[in-house]
Amino acid sequence: TKTVKSDIEIAQEAVLAPIGKIAGGLGLDEEDWEPYGRYKAKVSADTLKKLNGKKDGNVILVTSINPTPAGEGKSTVTVGLGQAMNRIGRKTVIALREPSLGPTMGLKGGAAGGGYSQVVPMEDINLHFTGDFHAITSAHNALAAFLDNHIYQGNELNIDPRRIVWKRVLDLNDRALRHVIIGLGGRTNGVPREDGFDITVASEIMAILCLSVNLDDLKKRLSKMLVAYTYDNEPVFVRDLKVEGALTLLLKEAIHPNLVQTLENTPAFVHGGPFANIAHGCNSVLATKIGAKLGEYLVTEAGFGADLGAEKFLDITTRAGHIKPGAVVIVATIRALKMHGGMTKEELRNEDMDALARGMENLACHIETIQAFGLPYVIAINHFIFDTDREVAFVKDWCAKNGHPVALANVWEDGGKGGEQLARLVVETIESQENHFKPLYELDDSVEDKLYAVITKVYGGKGLELSPKARRQLVSIKKNGWDKFPVCIAKTQYSLSDNPKLIGRPKDFVIHVRELKVSVGAGFIVALTGSVLTMPGLPKHPAALNMDVGTDGKVAGLF
Ligand code: ADP
Repeated sequence: TKTVKSDIEIAQEAVLAPIGKIAGGLGLDEEDWEPYGRYKAKVSADTLKKLNGKKDGNVILVTSINPTPAGEGKSTVTVGLGQAMNRIGRKTVIALREPSLGPTMGLKGGAAGGGYSQVVPMEDINLHFTGDFHAITSAHNALAAFLDNHIYQGNELNIDPRRIVWKRVLDLNDRALRHVIIGLGGRTNGVPREDGFDITVASEIMAILCLSVNLDDLKKRLSKMLVAYTYDNEPVFVRDLKVEGALTLLLKEAIHPNLVQTLENTPAFVHGGPFANIAHGCNSVLATKIGAKLGEYLVTEAGFGADLGAEKFLDITTRAGHIKPGAVVIVATIRALKMHGGMTKEELRNEDMDALARGMENLACHIETIQAFGLPYVIAINHFIFDTDREVAFVKDWCAKNGHPVALANVWEDGGKGGEQLARLVVETIESQENHFKPLYELDDSVEDKLYAVITKVYGGKGLELSPKARRQLVSIKKNGWDKFPVCIAKTQYSLSDNPKLIGRPKDFVIHVRELKVSVGAGFIVALTGSVLTMPGLPKHPAALNMDVGTDGKVAGLF
């Protein structure tokens, strides 16, 4: 039967429309887009200006409960919902993040949806795509090279090589590069210093590209990036090195959103992909805004659970892009709920009503989060074939009893057809519920108050503890006038707390902020908790071991 086919097999059977047909269907003029091969296009960032007078469609944000190793399927539901909305006659555009090669080669094996709800051509989307990530990698490393060259050539700016805050990046999982020494080999080979690599999706340039609304905005943000401190403890910015022009130049194509399609020919933007811990975790504002102008609805996704991705979308992205969201879809799976109720991954195929009942607490917390933002919401149960009828009925009853709109989504098995019920419920919810959207805190609140607001209203914690280092950094943040930025808390995605082992709905916990870092160009204060990795490692059996390409060019092992 069709359900045993892998994602790549399903994707390879798809009948794709030429990209011009997709662009034309959106009402784009020839001059608004440029083909990138047969099935991909770059849609000009200037389209946004052109569409300025047009009313925005409803932005629907897809988020989820706290992720578990069982997988939740946010991208799958995002794509499936977009397909379903079109099936019920609502013109809908999808906007997603581009997958990073690190997790693709590592654990994830690709991230372009799943089953009969995928964006295609999935091989391209998962591998290099239109080169945006490479452009970001180049711009990031060019800046690192300019900085080291400046020091080597006499260090006019008096930069302290021990206080450089700009590392290098690569779009791979490579733990061996986390800490490196550069500049070895004598006088002509630079000034030796300690350095390190992050994964490209952790680059501030990735965050900036995804928050900029046009090329000028991009350049302005790049020029403000903090790269180092001087021996006199003064900050050094990109503008001091006078390279914002060169960096913008390297990104002049990457800023244009990429247009592709789903298995059912629904238009989808795939553009940018910042982490949802140390950055804001959603695709570019440009893709979301252009998509919302072109469609009656736009469905987008934020990384990890609602505590990380959705909170950041609603507190950071909506402010940068002046976006007013219409509704939130909270994805839950029976499997993940049972894991939050204490089951191990190996036991998940067994029915366990008690574990499921306990796990509902995690969903309840995320529902309260969306309520705190004043937004209408719908719960989507992403259906897995092993879910029993009794389990599904239990979740539905729980939602009905507590007054939460809920629909079963069979989009992985059945594509858009399996999401029609969800689509109708989303439309009905947007049309009938009041929308009182408001970010959680004011930008004028103190940094501590902003952190406290997220910790208490979203995570359900009781307070925060700043390390002595974070306290010192806070003084410097205030001195430099950066305290008006929103906060971006980097926390484990597995728990509402900063301890990945505390699943379900932990209570009475304190969040420990070990370090504060400011992304001045992106415009947020990153609060680091626990041990968040900005350069992941590969697992013992990376997904790459199953990957291959045949003599006919056919790709295998992406899933
Ligand atoms: P997320 O966006 O939450 O990381 P994805 O949508 O990328 O999750 O899905 C992760 C993996 O789980 C994909 O390989 C996808 O095919 C699979 N998956 C998602 N939903 C289902 C489902 N209902 N049944 C079986 N597999 C699914």
